[in-house]
Amino acid sequence: MHLKQLTLRGFKSFATATTLTFEPGINCVVGPNGSGKSNVVDALAWVMGEQVAKTLRGGSMADVIFAGTANRPALGRAEVSLTIDNSDGALPISYTEVTISRTLFRSGGSEYAINGSPVRLLDIQELLSDTGMGREMHVIVGQGRLDAVLQATPEERRSFIEEAAGVLKHRRRKEKALRK
Ligand code: ATP
Ligand code: MG
Repeated sequence: MHLKQLTLRGFKSFATATTLTFEPGINCVVGPNGSGKSNVVDALAWVMGEQVAKTLRGGSMADVIFAGTANRPALGRAEVSLTIDNSDGALPISYTEVTISRTLFRSGGSEYAINGSPVRLLDIQELLSDTGMGREMHVIVGQGRLDAVLQATPEERRSFIEEAAGVLKHRRRKEKALRK
């Protein structure tokens, strides 16, 4: 499984539709300060279901919608789509390519879709659970967060890794079973 393509429309500084394509292995996004590199990472977290505005470096969720510049008006919605290569079947869905998308309207409503069909947020979270991506993921280490990881106690560090690897829930189940 690997990320294939990310399209941003009206998300943060990306007013016009912008598509990034990724290859298997390591991909780098480079650019001057303020050019939108961290916004790309925010878009990845957001489309995978992030619900906490602060994690996305905003005060409220509407801060992800393009707020306008001196010569371009603000937009009414933000839309991000992420295409994941699933030819190894890592995602529990019978498609070799899966596109998840999320839209937020300034009026407040949100929409989620998997391969173009409307779904609930829960469906996206369930699709991604066990992959180490998605909700409360620690696979994205933001600017300044590296220190927190480096200064964590060995126990905390193990829990980051276990969560990213998707084994935390099995540990919880094991502990529960042992208590019985
Ligand atoms: P650095 O190298 O300093 O980390 P960066 O490439 O990571 O920079 P970002 O933080 O991704 O930069 O982008 C910051 C830019 O995004 C700022 O210019 C900010 O004004 C713009 N921006 C953030 N949210 C919005 C929004 N909702 N509407 C318009 N522009 C936005
Ligand atoms: Mg940055």
